[in-house]
Amino acid sequence: MSVREGNLEAPTRHPLDWKNPDFYDENLLVQELERVFDICHGCRRCFSLCNAFPTLFDAIDESSTMELDGVDKRVFWQVVDHCYLCDMCYMTKCPYVPPHEWNVDFPHLMLRAKAVKHAQGKTRVRDRILSSTDTVGMLAGIPVVSGVVNAVNHNKVGRRVLEELLEVHPDAHLPEYHSDKLRSRVEITRNQDANAAPEAGPTRGKVALFATCYGNYNEPDLGEDLIAIFEHNDIPVRLVDTERCCGMPKLELGDLQAVEKAKEVNIPQLVSLVDKGWDIVAPVPSCVLMFKQELPLMFPDDEDVAKVRDAIYDPFEYLMIRHKHDLLKTDFSHSLGNISYHVACHLRVQNIGMKTRELLQLVPDTSVDAIERCSGHDGTYAVKKEFHEISMKIGKPVVNRVQKASPDHYSSDCPMAGHQIENGLENGKAPDHPLKLLRMAYGI
Ligand code: SF4
Ligand code: SF4
Repeated sequence: MSVREGNLEAPTRHPLDWKNPDFYDENLLVQELERVFDICHGCRRCFSLCNAFPTLFDAIDESSTMELDGVDKRVFWQVVDHCYLCDMCYMTKCPYVPPHEWNVDFPHLMLRAKAVKHAQGKTRVRDRILSSTDTVGMLAGIPVVSGVVNAVNHNKVGRRVLEELLEVHPDAHLPEYHSDKLRSRVEITRNQDANAAPEAGPTRGKVALFATCYGNYNEPDLGEDLIAIFEHNDIPVRLVDTERCCGMPKLELGDLQAVEKAKEVNIPQLVSLVDKGWDIVAPVPSCVLMFKQELPLMFPDDEDVAKVRDAIYDPFEYLMIRHKHDLLKTDFSHSLGNISYHVACHLRVQNIGMKTRELLQLVPDTSVDAIERCSGHDGTYAVKKEFHEISMKIGKPVVNRVQKASPDHYSSDCPMAGHQIENGLENGKAPDHPLKLLRMAYGI
């Protein structure tokens, strides 16, 4: 029987079988790694996406047999460590994803390997700390502590201590921590009884903001800009009563039990808001993707998870749906000039199109050059001592495009990706988040 080349049918994604004890069986995992790695060796389409594939292909090419059977199994784990679950191989390159009979889901195989490693107690203390974004944010956001943390971040001696203690690369960008976090700046009770704006398509005209750890502790301006823009468009915005990390950093570590714990706090809160007519919006693409894709694949039978999946939006996706129904204000008072716009991987894989670019291009005298390449930041990858340099190499083509364009602004929906680009630019110019740009354009 011949196997056809590539898929003719629309890709489907199988749920993650993470409650099955076989999922954690290392022998079965290695068998599956061998099966998929061999397919990748014969295909090699993904050689330029990240460092996972070059690590695999170089090891094969340098082995005595020049086939997978000549590769030391320890290299398999290096491949796993280089995968940051961006999903680009699955979503944009692979012709062998289900329903193709080869059933290749490279990112979820890497996730399974990470989960096996975590279950075996092999997760580093550094990685446990870096992925505890809400706990770190809560502690680092305490007044006085935030001052010390930010001072350490900007001090060479402090960074050397961080390098020694936590294996954080001294040149990696680390976020600032704010003691006046978003959830202190915005009244928790605000707009709780507000009336909705008119419905438009699936949007119901009132929004609950899931602030995210990053949007709460590290860049509270993001949430303030979002609120100003939505309310300028007559859409009332409130906060979610309480929230935990969406779980993406723990997912990237393979700590699926921690993802479940976070889900058990977040989903009931969000479902209760959805039932009361609120749509959910979050300002960080990875967090939206967690609710749109990863949680539904981990909990395929959970109706509440599905309800949140169908009610959560990227902010620009939400606004462009409303624009389609003539409900977006276009009373822009400032042009934005030339913008180099990096399209974050976790936004691209949401398959919603380039809503941010479409909206910013509505602003008069504004042009947006979209850069669809990985910035190399990828969660905590760029921060880790052993991966920082390769992360800068991965992001170099993006940095070069921005540098060459010398734009009025450069921007990414992923704020961490924006800072990764900043870290590579010779002039050190800071990024402007698309929400900040849109607020500037409105002059509000
Ligand atoms: S998910 Fe992303 S990082 Fe992982 S192997 Fe695929 S392209 Fe590379
Ligand atoms: S993930 Fe798919 S497209 Fe990428 S190298 Fe493997 S088989 Fe080829």
